[in-house]
Amino acid sequence: MEENIEAACKRASRDPSEVTLIAVSKTKPVELIMEAYDAGIRDFGENKVQELLEKYDRCPQDIRWHLIGHLQTNKVKYIVDKVAMIHSVDSLKLAEEISRQAVKKNVSVDILVEVNIADETTKYGISYEECQDLVVAIIGLPNITVRGLMCIAPYTENSEENRKYFEKLCKLNVDIKQKMSNNTFTGVLSMGMTGDYEVAIEEGATYVRVGTGIFGERNYNI
Ligand SMILES: *Cc1c(COP(=O)(O)O)cnc(C)c1O
Repeated sequence: MEENIEAACKRASRDPSEVTLIAVSKTKPVELIMEAYDAGIRDFGENKVQELLEKYDRCPQDIRWHLIGHLQTNKVKYIVDKVAMIHSVDSLKLAEEISRQAVKKNVSVDILVEVNIADETTKYGISYEECQDLVVAIIGLPNITVRGLMCIAPYTENSEENRKYFEKLCKLNVDIKQKMSNNTFTGVLSMGMTGDYEVAIEEGATYVRVGTGIFGERNYNI
């Protein structure tokens, strides 16, 4: 994994220190998380609040937990003071609740805006067209900092097919970054999974979210 990431960085003339690997541990037991932890990984991704909380209590304190799945407003209060970053903010209503709970707990929360980059009806995320307005609206809220963008590209056997989406999201990210005068929008770009993370890195990803490629296939029936 590390070698593939380094090779992709080299092809794109990027410094590997710009890219952070998030090990997506959803459905996987704490024992496997600890194996990855012992191998040096500190960033882990979960897509469900309940599962994240259970693992949070049982794992070392220096793990940075990333919430990467859809987040319901009524669950925000459980996680605002536990996560390093929320990748899946796609409405002002959700951002307002994160802000409200963060003020209450006196913390500041880093978030990314999730973009439905291929306009898939099955996916969450704000539309490409509405993304910038949402970023601007969130910047006005207290105790929440929007750092960049996230997308989940379509499922495909051929990762090259997703290159255009990664390129599109990267351009939008740079565009927004240039327009923002407050420079808290640092242009973080969370994109690429097991099947397409190398292409995503070539197109500018700063976080790649890899599950199967680290932990093996998931079994949702246990
Ligand atoms: C499950 C998941 C991943 C990891 O998927 P793999 O194909 O197993 O690497 C990445 N991002 C999100 C949002 C996910 O839900």
